[in-house]
Amino acid sequence: MSGRLIVVSNRIPTEAEPSGGLVVALHDCLTARGGVWIGTSGDPQASPEPKLRQIADGPYTRMVFDISPEEHEGYYLGYANSVLWPLFHRRADLIDLQPDFADHYMEVNRRLAQMLADFTTPDDLIWVHDYHFLPLAALMREAGVTARIGFFLHIPFPVVADIMALPQAGDLKTWVAEFDVFGVQTQGDVARVMAHYRDDPGAVFNTQGRMVASDTGMRPRHFPIGIDAQEFAKLAAREEVNVQLGMTAGQKLVLGVDRLDYSKGLRHRFDGFATYLDRRTPDSPKATLLQIAPPSREDVDAYRDIRTELEQTSGMINGAHAELDWTPIRYIRRSVDRDRLAGLYRRADVAMVTPLADGMNLVAKEFVAAQDPEDPGVLILSHFAGAAEQLSDALLVNPYDPQDVALALEQALVMPLDERKRRHASLRDNVMKENIGWWTDRYLTALQTAPAPQPDLYVPGSAA
Ligand code: UDP
Repeated sequence: MSGRLIVVSNRIPTEAEPSGGLVVALHDCLTARGGVWIGTSGDPQASPEPKLRQIADGPYTRMVFDISPEEHEGYYLGYANSVLWPLFHRRADLIDLQPDFADHYMEVNRRLAQMLADFTTPDDLIWVHDYHFLPLAALMREAGVTARIGFFLHIPFPVVADIMALPQAGDLKTWVAEFDVFGVQTQGDVARVMAHYRDDPGAVFNTQGRMVASDTGMRPRHFPIGIDAQEFAKLAAREEVNVQLGMTAGQKLVLGVDRLDYSKGLRHRFDGFATYLDRRTPDSPKATLLQIAPPSREDVDAYRDIRTELEQTSGMINGAHAELDWTPIRYIRRSVDRDRLAGLYRRADVAMVTPLADGMNLVAKEFVAAQDPEDPGVLILSHFAGAAEQLSDALLVNPYDPQDVALALEQALVMPLDERKRRHASLRDNVMKENIGWWTDRYLTALQTAPAPQPDLYVPGSAA
């Protein structure tokens, strides 16, 4: 590859050696091949200049651009996190449609597109991350960029019926089509992208999934994101000894780890756990659900209510079921660092990963990697997590159905060792093979080998 790799994401790491799976993967990838990482500065400025500013140099360059406080409200808190996030997570009922949200979103993307047009050459490979920058390729094409531009959507792609709730539903077709590779997490997402174009005579897909009857040749493809599984396994084996829980012998640890987000289905999980407690006989194991839920996006309205709801629900469940030596739900509303988390995963008998909608869910993969293969814990996984496509040997549940969740928990808590080992071996195999390095390589190969971009913009409804 002769040009540079240019990664674009809303936030970029500022520390020399960043942590966290995706960030480390992109950091390693850029360190190995050189390139540039571009994102917002994270410090809103009253009059942002349309300029990329270098913040660090090393094996690769990091550059930021400013947005204004109004753009932070409209582009980031508004359109990205109060419109696209709920809509793409099947919560169209929560979207907050305010005209200036879309205006700010487009303005930030347009300014970035122009900065990138001034900065890139036709040989560069541009890799755009996530829903903050959906219109970027279309706007870059308008600004004259001819380099290959790829996109990866970390969250689910919505069903057509939900997209209809977006005033920019028609524009979304052009936004998506202008990327040379539109990467999504799962095969289900690919199907939903294609369904979005189904009635459009301008968009016909060939058997390889490439849009042939349009000017763009865009291709939606799935690239399920992985983790650094080897490293996580080592960390977990080292950290297990440091886990002090104060539980009595024979009690079982059920673990949940999720940002406090309505898409994670925490209230439904608590309901499922309560149903398990209701069904218990005196011989059933005493299980404690340790739920770690660091708050996120507290400046977005929809996030404030979940916190109160969960505190009330866990209090009610404990009130009904707690005993002198047993607290059924331990709810920790703060973040736990990676090392301690790894030790906790390994110590846990069961993990409950039961989102109502999730692009992938890395916690599920981290839990699998962290287990002792000779005495592994059991993963309970929602059908609606992207990870369910790869991790089909988990106990798959419908998170909306408390009976289903409770039955899976009963099964998990008494599962014989040979079945635990068999299921875990299959899950581990996948998590180790389809790791984060596999993901970056696969994506970049697809982008590098995508047909050269065509100059014309895709216009929905116009047959080529
Ligand atoms: N995480 C963490 N500490 C916490 C909770 C979560 O380090 O207290 C990490 C977790 O290990 C995982 C990530 O945050 O790597 C969450 O990723 P996931 O895909 O599960 O969900 P997201 O928050 O991206 O929707």
